[in-house]
Amino acid sequence: MAKHIGLIYAGGTIGMRKTGQGYAPMTEFGSMLAASLHDESGAIPRYTLHEYAMPIDSTNATPADWQRIGRDIAGRYEDYDGFVVLHGTDTMAYTAAALSFMLQGLRKPVILTGSQIPLGEVRSDALQNIVTALQLAACGTLSEVALYFNQRLLRGNRTTKISAQRFQAFDSPNYPSLAEAGIGIRINQAALLPAANRENFELPEYAGGRILSFRATPGMPLQAVQALLDLQPQALILECYGAGNLPDNDPALLDMLTRANDAGIVLLACSQALHGEVALGAYATGSGLARAGVVGCGDMTFEAIYTKLHHLFALGLAADAVKLAMRRDIAGELSGGADL
Ligand code: ASP
Repeated sequence: MAKHIGLIYAGGTIGMRKTGQGYAPMTEFGSMLAASLHDESGAIPRYTLHEYAMPIDSTNATPADWQRIGRDIAGRYEDYDGFVVLHGTDTMAYTAAALSFMLQGLRKPVILTGSQIPLGEVRSDALQNIVTALQLAACGTLSEVALYFNQRLLRGNRTTKISAQRFQAFDSPNYPSLAEAGIGIRINQAALLPAANRENFELPEYAGGRILSFRATPGMPLQAVQALLDLQPQALILECYGAGNLPDNDPALLDMLTRANDAGIVLLACSQALHGEVALGAYATGSGLARAGVVGCGDMTFEAIYTKLHHLFALGLAADAVKLAMRRDIAGELSGGADL
């Protein structure tokens, strides 16, 4: 039977129009989209559009927006063979990662896409992205949250936005493409998550997460780290150098991290480098972090770490359980396991 795709329009440049203040979401996007997708050849899968009444610039997205999309998909799950979510590029990688944690055990695809130039403008990349995302959603072999952009299908929780200018806006630095779309579409079967036996959706209340981050810079003021810890976050993500290194020439930093860890704040180390993974024992400047209780995040993207933390705390997990879960792969976001 012909596949039927649920197409959710949440906002983003794809549906924007120029205003006096710059691009802003337009509300009558649905009719423009229907006209653009008009096709009698049968090449474009059947879809039903669910247009949000208030489409947003994804810069304004919050965990509540991830939750809304996740719950919408879960609520309509039986109605469709797959889903395409039209979303702004700025925080698409966050939404994709969050959806992968909410919609575990998928047996059909959820594909996010958007564009760098609005639909309807000359040289727009929107139509290509939407049409291919719809075709991928209907292809019958995918069963995970993915992001399609400029000829590549990437695992959603492995993506990061790498360009504000190029059509190639996203990359998946530590995981291969799930598919490449040229004249034909080539699926990389070996890279796909296997279809689950049954869905295992987790859709907790996302309000109230307190996850902060700190980016290391040469000569950084340590009071800034302490100021963040004084806000008593549930977790602080330390964006370290290279393999997970922070300066160790002033014991004050490790002291404050040790105290924070003892007080139950979950401390994570990720790398500012795009490729590779955190190995806290590789350098003396990193092994002190491990002793202070900081958890290395392996090869997860920042977006995956941030959304995973929101998800785990929303489930009500205590700090120790969150630390354990951060070192385990939940939805294909982490290769192997992360070190301590
Ligand atoms: N600011 C826009 C958004 O994220 C950018 C885009 O869609 O490309 O909604």
